[in-house]
Parts: sequence; C-alpha cells; structure tokens
Amino acid sequence: MQLRSVTSRLPVRHTEAIIGNMVSNSSLFTDIPFDQDGKHIGYIQAPQSTNTAGWANLFIPLIVIKNGTGPTALLFGGNHGDEYEGPVTLLKLARSIEPDQIHGRIILLPALNTPAVLNNSRLSPIDGRNMNRAFPGLPTDTLTGQIAHYVSSTLMPLADLVVDVHSGGRSMHFLPSANMHRVADPTQMRAMVRLGLAWGAPYVFIYQDVAGGGLLPSYAESLGKITLGTEMGSASQYGPATLRLAFDGLRRVLSEMGILTSDTVQTGLESSVQHAPASPVSTSTLVSSELRDDYIMSPASGIVEPLVELGDDVVAGQAVAHIHFIEQPAWEGLVVRARTAGFVMSRRAIPLTGQGDCLVVVARPCDV
Ligand SMILES: [Zn+2]
Repeated sequence: MQLRSVTSRLPVRHTEAIIGNMVSNSSLFTDIPFDQDGKHIGYIQAPQSTNTAGWANLFIPLIVIKNGTGPTALLFGGNHGDEYEGPVTLLKLARSIEPDQIHGRIILLPALNTPAVLNNSRLSPIDGRNMNRAFPGLPTDTLTGQIAHYVSSTLMPLADLVVDVHSGGRSMHFLPSANMHRVADPTQMRAMVRLGLAWGAPYVFIYQDVAGGGLLPSYAESLGKITLGTEMGSASQYGPATLRLAFDGLRRVLSEMGILTSDTVQTGLESSVQHAPASPVSTSTLVSSELRDDYIMSPASGIVEPLVELGDDVVAGQAVAHIHFIEQPAWEGLVVRARTAGFVMSRRAIPLTGQGDCLVVVARPCDV
C-alpha cells in the first residue's frame, strides 16, 4: 500500500494525512517518507505544551526501511515504558538492517510511549494513561490517545504484520513467549500461530484481556493484521538471554514473512555480530490461559509470599501464594489457591500487592 502524505514541517493542528481513501485529522506528523526506498531515520512529532516550553513537540523515534515491493512489518517497542526489551531490540534492528537485505518495508517505533520509556514507568507521566489501553484513540484525546490514534489511522493501514514487543516490566515475571488472542478468523489465527512459532520463544501463548480493552494488538487483530505480542521475561529477568531471544526471534519472524532476506547482522557491536544466523526452526509449545480463573487476583492487600515458581505444575486447589499482613502480626495470613490446573506462566514480581493485583497466571497446552 502506498502512502500519499500531506504533511507540514510545522505542527499545525488537524494536519491531514491521506492514506488511500482514509483521511486522518491527527495533529501528529512526520516528514519521514513511507514510500521511498532506503533507510529513513527521524521522528513523529506530537504537539506538547509544557510549563517550560510553551511551543514544543514530543519527538517519537521512527525508522522506515524500504526496498521495492513486498509486505510491510510495523514494529513497536516501549508501549509500556518500563519494558526495555522492545526499545533495545528495535534500535539494534534498525541499525543492523540495510534496505538491500529486505523485500518490502519495515516501520519501527522503538519507544511508542516515549515519555514513559524516558520515565521508566508503565504509564505515561504526562497524562497518566496506559498506551496499551488507549487504542484506537482519538485525534482530540489526551497525548497518549492522540499517539494511539495516529498509529491506528496512519500506520496500521500500511501494515501486513504488526509486532508489539512487551515483557512483564516491573510487575510480572513471565516465561518468554510470542503471544496473541484467539481470533475468530481461522486463516488469520493460523498465520499468527505460524509466525509465533517462527519466533522460537519457549512458548506461543494465547491470552485473554482481563484488565480492560483498548490494546494495540487487539486493535491490530481486529483489522485482520497478522499480529504478535510478546512477553520477554520481566525487568528482573532483563539480560542477554531475553534480549537475544527478542532480537533473533524478531529477525526469524521477518524472515518467515519474506521481508528479511539476508542473514547478515551488522549492528556494529561485536557481541551482536556473533549471533547465530536466523533460523525458522522452532521448539515452541503452544499454550493458553483462556479461563477467567486462570488469572488469580489477590483477594487482599499485603505482602506476597510466592509458593510456586515459573513453570511449576499446579492443580486446582493448590496453594500458590500466601498473603501476609504487617499490620496484624498475629494473623495467619491468607492462602491463595489455584482454581484451575496447568503450569505457572507468570507470577507477580513485586512483593507488595494490592487487592485485585494478578498474582499467578495458569496456562496449559492447547490447540488452534
Ligand atoms: Zn507491556
């Protein structure tokens, strides 16, 4: 799909970006071309007026790599600001891939919620909102919703593949996975699972939204896009293993899509050059958490003593956590039990819990 953009170098409100027959009245704009071969590095700019800068723009990094015709991959990191696997992976990917190594186009946003990434916070420090609950957004929304709207109206129509790289951030530990919802279209579902398997993570994970709608992947899925999310560990699992899995896995997915055609890795960093060539071989296990009871929420606030670790098998009725109450030292505390059987896909990483915080996610093998 070709972009015919009408953009201005001035952040004029209600600048129109025209994509096909779709008109977006977003206030965001970029002068990066989407339809020219080559590697283009710059920013999406969003109007922002602050106490110290009355006339200002928020700069959101954007890289477009294009070579001829072929599918378009739209890649996101930093949807949640305290999940740095995505930003690091996409920055390395943008530097390492040259146009002659691809067929088609790769659009990379390494820090979708740039203020949150710079603030090491899950939510935006500007409007307090969760980018991954703001989709599809509105042009008249707060900043987070305006960015979501630009993505929904201007970028997603260009995409065949949408990848949103997440991890558990500070709050949850995860077994690494490429993930998705179970969508109604069997052709779309099979394509997403095939790409998920190509990632080569230990798991391909089908999950449900138990904490609200408005997710970027949900919206992309609703448009029929081949969509992948990830949970690449957590802030405390952040390290060479999860970063290598994110980088190599995303390259394998781009190869499986027919976009990345070369195994050459040129990041300029010796450790990265030594990465094994991308391979579509996958040993992933397909699992899901599709029951409401798979998501075990804390019944009370307190200090969590985890009784199970990632990967442990659990049976219904098994104690998975013990909540202790520092204000009542004589109390025995509260034992939290699994209500379904399977294994621990995720568990809370922060020792303090509030009532309703997710303590454990139980998953089990499944089919599509
Ligand atoms: Zn996330």
